[in-house]
Amino acid sequence: MKTLLIGESREGRLLNATYELFGASEKLKSEPILFLAGTEAGLPSYAGTLYLADAKKYGEYNPDLHKNMILQVVEKENPDYVVFLHSSYGRDLAPRIAASLRIGQVSEVVDIVDGTFELTCCNARMHRSVRVSTPRAVVTIQPGAFSPIRPGGTPLIQAMQTDALSSIEFAGYEPAGPEQIDLGKAGIIISAGRGIGTKENTALIWNLARILGGEVGASRPVVDAGWIEHSRQIGSTGQTVSPELYIACGISGAIQHLAGIKNSGYIVAINKDRDAPIGEIADALVVADVTQFLPALTERVTKP
Ligand code: FAD
Repeated sequence: MKTLLIGESREGRLLNATYELFGASEKLKSEPILFLAGTEAGLPSYAGTLYLADAKKYGEYNPDLHKNMILQVVEKENPDYVVFLHSSYGRDLAPRIAASLRIGQVSEVVDIVDGTFELTCCNARMHRSVRVSTPRAVVTIQPGAFSPIRPGGTPLIQAMQTDALSSIEFAGYEPAGPEQIDLGKAGIIISAGRGIGTKENTALIWNLARILGGEVGASRPVVDAGWIEHSRQIGSTGQTVSPELYIACGISGAIQHLAGIKNSGYIVAINKDRDAPIGEIADALVVADVTQFLPALTERVTKP
């Protein structure tokens, strides 16, 4: 069994999440080969064949050109699986490959058990098991779901070329604005989830954070609702944090959120549902209405 892994780099540096693809490949019990749009300055620690598309020539993001080169590798190597990260890059490119090859695609995979793909559904309350019926398949994996594996060694580079036409020109990345808050260095984070209920109730989170000397974080629905600014979103499409103490208030524990908090020292979850998935990874689960518990906790910690 052979798996073509599609790595990623940003501004010439390999993204560490690329090593999670090797974790998925191991679960597939397959031999990995790697495609990367990158540069020789940012090569992976891996001793196998690396199909390298020079990012200076073909861009780090160009689905037309990258699709063409990945299809060349597929034709040459005939892999059983083509595996992407479920990133903005993978979400865009994977279906183009699946459609071109007319094979199945399984997206946002969080585990692979005996060739069956596990996906989350119903806000991570349930897992869905999926098998592919085509002989080959395209797969995207949820960032943070698979343990990274660094195979070690120096890759054997096969330089890729294409004359394909592109309808897209990569213009570059925009740096985050000065308002970007770096939660990565915070020692204590109090995060608001949808269970906080209203924008007004987020004052309970800000208050406790101020008293504990911590920072405020948020799950995606809270950001989408405009209750807390986007720069404080934590998770696979937000920031990755590693505080000593993480207090999740009204957060269910979807895999995309957990991806951002798994390096936290001690996780306290406050949730009115004792079966909320976050209870599986929390060090302490407080079963309570967060709008009642937070004022009581704040009062307790401010008492001399
Ligand atoms: P919910 O899942 O709705 O959970 C609310 C929780 O609050 C429930 O457990 C409920 O029991 C509890 N609750 C309700 N009322 C109360 C109360 N009064 N007191 C106490 N508890 C209460 N999400 C992120 O957070 N970060 C990301 O970066 C991210 N990226 C994503 C990327 C993709 C591609 C996709 C598809 C999704 C992403 N998501 C992300 C969304 C993610 O899948 C979940 O939908 C989201 O994390 C759920 O947020 P939540 O836990 O706040 O809300």
